[in-house]
Amino acid sequence: MNTKINILVIEDSNDDALLVLREIQKANYIINNEIVASADLLKESLKKINWDIVVSDYVMPGFSGLDALKIVREFDEDLPFIIVSGTIGESIAVDAMRSGANDYVMKNSLARLVPAIKRELREAVIRRERKIAKDKLKESEELYRALVETSPEAIVLIDACGNILFSNKQGANLIGEKYVHNLKNRNVFEFIFPEDLEKANSNLIRANEGDVIDDQEIRLMRADKNIIYTEIRVAPLLDSSGKPKFLIFMIIDVTKKIEGIKKRLKSEAEFRSVWENSFDAMRLCDENGIIVRVNRAFCKMMNRTREELEGKRFDVIYNSENDHESLEKYKYIFHNHTVQPKLETEINLIDKKKIWVELSNSYIEIKGQPTLLLSIFRDISERKNYENSLIIAKEKAEEMNRMKSNFMNNMSHEIRTPMVAILGYAQLVLDELENADPYLFLKGIVSSGRRLMETINSILDLSRIESGKIELKFKKINLVSESKEIIERLSILAEQKGLYIKFSAREDSILSLLDSNLYDQIVENLIGNAIKYTEKGGIIVEITKNYIEEENWSVLNIIDTGIGIPKESLEIIFEEFRQVSEGIGRRFEGSGLGLTITKKYVEMMHGKISVESRFGRGSVFSVRFKSCLPDEIEFESKIFQKEFPKTIIGKEGNIKPNLARLLLVENDSGSINITRRFLKGLYELDCVEKGEDAIELVKNKKYDLILMDINLGYGKSGVETTLEIKNISGYENIPIVALTAYAMHSDKEYFLSIGLTHYLAKPFEKSDLINLIEQILHSSNKDKLI
Ligand code: ADP
Repeated sequence: MNTKINILVIEDSNDDALLVLREIQKANYIINNEIVASADLLKESLKKINWDIVVSDYVMPGFSGLDALKIVREFDEDLPFIIVSGTIGESIAVDAMRSGANDYVMKNSLARLVPAIKRELREAVIRRERKIAKDKLKESEELYRALVETSPEAIVLIDACGNILFSNKQGANLIGEKYVHNLKNRNVFEFIFPEDLEKANSNLIRANEGDVIDDQEIRLMRADKNIIYTEIRVAPLLDSSGKPKFLIFMIIDVTKKIEGIKKRLKSEAEFRSVWENSFDAMRLCDENGIIVRVNRAFCKMMNRTREELEGKRFDVIYNSENDHESLEKYKYIFHNHTVQPKLETEINLIDKKKIWVELSNSYIEIKGQPTLLLSIFRDISERKNYENSLIIAKEKAEEMNRMKSNFMNNMSHEIRTPMVAILGYAQLVLDELENADPYLFLKGIVSSGRRLMETINSILDLSRIESGKIELKFKKINLVSESKEIIERLSILAEQKGLYIKFSAREDSILSLLDSNLYDQIVENLIGNAIKYTEKGGIIVEITKNYIEEENWSVLNIIDTGIGIPKESLEIIFEEFRQVSEGIGRRFEGSGLGLTITKKYVEMMHGKISVESRFGRGSVFSVRFKSCLPDEIEFESKIFQKEFPKTIIGKEGNIKPNLARLLLVENDSGSINITRRFLKGLYELDCVEKGEDAIELVKNKKYDLILMDINLGYGKSGVETTLEIKNISGYENIPIVALTAYAMHSDKEYFLSIGLTHYLAKPFEKSDLINLIEQILHSSNKDKLI
């Protein structure tokens, strides 16, 4: 078989070149050749074709075989180069071979050429293959080295005894050594944490037996004595007989991972402990309403085991008949984030037990997304029951209060009505029986009756204050004119005891914002006490203005020359039922409520009361209210300056006969008789028992004044009758006096507001009734004159 061969011939003699080629051809080679004789042509030719062999002359003009060899070798180290020369001696041939020629053949023995070519071609193939193999080896070595050096793992090669033969940089770093060469001639056992030595040794033995050891946790001690956690893999490197020659250690530092796990475990343990030991019942549900986790308190509250709850639907705890919430509703709430953060609700548990809970809901976010719903249940049944019992108690108390008010109203009415007759009859008989024995008895009845009324009034006042029933109507009051009127009334009592009563006011008008009823009662009580507790001398009532604590005050001083109050009693006299002289041996009568009520009234109007006293010398009671400015007071002060007729007391003989026509509408026979008797000879008095009769009567007869009881039994009430009478022509402006036992604080206001023009509470004194009638008739006569 003909073999193709590319031959580059370097020869200056063409004949010699042809001889060489012919010699080769003889060996049946199909030749592709070129003949060159200079360095440039040689270089060009080398670049052009992959030559199989170069055959070169040794001596050429301007060029030599050695020059050619040098150029060829620079180009290709392994290209076979055979020198064919006629003149070459032994020593030159050796030089040429040293310089890299593969063989030499003498021109005179060209028969050696072909065998030399054949051999060199063969050897060139071998050399090339070897070279490829070597390159590959080198490449893979470099690859492995790069892999080893760039690996994040520490890679250490050791012998069977643990001596370190090689380590990558990470190995040195791991152990805390700066340079790899610091590890040379050291043993791995030097770096193993003492507690892990045994484990490491047994791993080494196994690896030496050919086992691959995987993921062993071994603690290492670094050069700086810090302990690090590592995961180690050991693989044996086997020799040709299959026995482990070296061991490769691959080591990963897992310290951070282990510490992270430890931390996580710790915080998980802490969380678990808080979760489990919480007193509040807690439940975690996912977006589908499935209970992910519950705590111990939750199981206890629901009376269910953990297994009965976890993994089940959120509403497994509820009694399905009642509290079964739909899953759709849950999902809607969950996805729209509309869960109520806090609510109080009563839940009906599956075992039909009902409990009140305070339920707090919050979303738990994972990666910014609400993933779980945490519900905290706190049993508030006890508190709720307590609250309910409070509400019931409050309702009961209010009911009691209402009952008490009714009771008070009824009592007031029922006590007052018969008192009209008791006191009235006694008074009438008194008028008849002056100086006789029964006169004294009856006098006793009257004064006792009055005293009884005072006590009843005080108790009623106090209970009204305590039940908060008093509605105050504040308006500007001129303390001067208001007090004068009361003093005028009480001066009779003082005179009876032979005491003087003086009044002094710094200005004509001293104003405060007050409820006139309460103010009147304060003045009456204090002056009443001053008269009661004074035997000689008298009382001075003084009204001034004062600037105290950066404010203007209207001040009322009631100064007496009475028995005085011992220092130690000054504190107690304002307390309920307390008196200076108490017990069986007390010297003065009275309920001990007057000052209590007075103080309460003062405070209700934001005022202050104080007392100064010298035992045996007298007392000064001081009341002050914040002053107000005099604007709009003209009108009110005018009212107070109205001139009333002189007080009419006692016997009928003192009164000018006046035949004004009066109508009394009254259904209580006692009250009718008494009123008749009181007014006998003074006025023309008609009486009817029913409202309906009164209405009929007024249509036919003209009256100047009507005295109207309110509670008229069956039929129209006094109020209804009044309203109808006022609608009858000619009666639009008739004075109608409410003569009634409805004497609670707001009653007077009410009757006056709905059309009655005046008011007198039962029981009334003869003088009170006559005074009032006179006052009304007098002012209406004056109006008529104008
Ligand atoms: P009462 O006068 O019904 O006993 P009060 O509450 O009005 O009840 O007065 C309480 C006590 O204060 C009286 O009992 C009396 O000892 C004493 N007291 C009140 N005012 C005077 C006064 N002007 N002078 C002396 N003692 C007084």
